[in-house]
Amino acid sequence: MLDMSAAYPPLSPATALVALGRPDREPGAPVSPPLVLSSTFTAGGDLDYAREGNPTWEPFEEVLGTLEGGRALAFGSGMAAATAAFSLVAPGGVIVVPRVAYSGVLASVRQRVEEGQVIARAVDLTDTDAVVASLPGADLIWLESPTNPLLDVADLPAILAAARAQGVRSVVDNTFATPLRQRPLTLGADVVMHSVTKYLSGHSDLLLGALVTATDDEAVRAQLLTHRTLVGAIPGAFDTWLALRGIRTLAVRLDRAEASARELARRLAGLEGVQRVRYPGSGAMIAFELESATVAQGCVDACRLVSASTSLGGVESQIERRRRYAGESADVPESLLRLSVGIEEVEDLWRDLSQAVAAAVDTSR
Ligand SMILES: *Cc1c(COP(=O)(O)O)cnc(C)c1O
Repeated sequence: MLDMSAAYPPLSPATALVALGRPDREPGAPVSPPLVLSSTFTAGGDLDYAREGNPTWEPFEEVLGTLEGGRALAFGSGMAAATAAFSLVAPGGVIVVPRVAYSGVLASVRQRVEEGQVIARAVDLTDTDAVVASLPGADLIWLESPTNPLLDVADLPAILAAARAQGVRSVVDNTFATPLRQRPLTLGADVVMHSVTKYLSGHSDLLLGALVTATDDEAVRAQLLTHRTLVGAIPGAFDTWLALRGIRTLAVRLDRAEASARELARRLAGLEGVQRVRYPGSGAMIAFELESATVAQGCVDACRLVSASTSLGGVESQIERRRRYAGESADVPESLLRLSVGIEEVEDLWRDLSQAVAAAVDTSR
């Protein structure tokens, strides 16, 4: 692979996204990495069987690892990556988890608890003292900030420093912030987790996950790599190739979506019928609350441009009432809508959202 370390170190993140993970510059060589569709490789080289490694994973892992300031491993989905991270906890171990975070991760922890594999302590991530008080005797703390879907922000520097001081391993789900807005390894995290499905790939056309470990942490990386290989939690080559294609434009997509989100959050806060807006000040996720579950669902149904669908981080804006799922936490208000702001023209988004809120409020009268 092309070595950019001598170019103009350090490359700014927006440039690294574009420049890294490319083939060596030899005359006639492809500029973009080829998609390698082969389950096996001729004996005698570095690669053997494609569950252990695929040349198509490497450029993506190189780009993401550099951006986060560590070394990345790609997985078949965000949940496959989370499951690999939980494998770091020995049977009977103690995991500290947020009371509200991505529902799939919490469901996975709950299942482990019910099976008697681990003990979980749930904490309010916004209460730093309570989080720190939960650390003694724990083996791993799972953090997510900003959280899905409440957009709560944890004091990561304080919590990660406390975890490190007490020898508690930490994992940060960095899906919402992306490495362009937050780099948890530089704040003291041991492992960073991504649902690449969201912002990093950015086009709502694949599922992929990743874990990033500190450059000098060979032991944890080896454990996670062994898990990936033996469980078979590997990404498909084509999905990883698409994810690399998507991550190239992350900086321009996120800058634009964030500028629109900031404007929409400001306008929503002044819109009749909107009771509360949650926007953490950066990123492109917003949550807002209407009068009731019925009005909120009416708003979703009245959107014509914004897509009524689950998931987030794509070029197209999406809206969802999270409590439509029985598995969503009861701490999430019934009337809360999660809005993933895409890269459409902001005035078109505002027209759609403001008419949808007005229509839903009207219907309820
Ligand atoms: C979507 C999501 C996940 C799960 O990732 P998948 O790619 O769907 O398996 C984990 N954490 C957060 C914050 C998410 O939004």
